[in-house]
Amino acid sequence: MRTAVSFLIGLVVGATGVLLYLQETAQLAIAADSTVARSGAAAATPTRRGAATSRSEPVSTQVRSEPVSTQVRSEPASTPTRRVAMSNSELLAIPVIGVTPEDLRQDFTDNRGGGRTHGALDIRAPRGTPVVAAVDGTIRKLFTSKAGGLTIYQYDVASERCYYYAHLDRYADGIREGKVVAQGDIIGYVGTTGNAPPGTPHLHFAITILTPTKEWWKGEVLDPYPLLTGGAARVTSNR
Ligand SMILES: [Zn+2]
Repeated sequence: MRTAVSFLIGLVVGATGVLLYLQETAQLAIAADSTVARSGAAAATPTRRGAATSRSEPVSTQVRSEPVSTQVRSEPASTPTRRVAMSNSELLAIPVIGVTPEDLRQDFTDNRGGGRTHGALDIRAPRGTPVVAAVDGTIRKLFTSKAGGLTIYQYDVASERCYYYAHLDRYADGIREGKVVAQGDIIGYVGTTGNAPPGTPHLHFAITILTPTKEWWKGEVLDPYPLLTGGAARVTSNR
């Protein structure tokens, strides 16, 4: 009996001890929490004071986001490129020697009377400036027309597109139908043949997507401007 009583007392004492211990631990935990909270509040002040640090974070984010914003900026140029399903490896050369993308003026949708739009790009340059092949390919047709004057129709290597060069002053030596040309090869010279104003020598440059039957006079026109300004290959001359 005494043993049982002392066992019970022992139990109670033990349980109280455990309870006390737990309470203490809990208090410690609370104390620790409030320390964290206090130090957190304290830490918030230096963070705010260290505005340079917090501001430098967005700055570094901006630095990181800069390529992204560059992509965003390049998107207007690359979107039309994608719209015409142009592969990035196929860069066009500006087909007039000495002309840079900055020199070009968008005139694809200009009204040319009678409800017609221009559907091409006029590249101004002094008479006699060399005209070069915009891509590798083949001279498909040498043609003289009332509007275009002396013209060249060039196919790309895959015969997917036709590149049209008009108002030429003359052809380059050796240019003939069927001749294989490389991008940058001189194929003619800027002039005013056809309906170009005599005082405004320029190359009328057009691109068409050929139909499955591949006739040089048929196709859907493409705007050359974004293709020439969005990473056009800068070619001086291959000769
Ligand atoms: Zn034109």
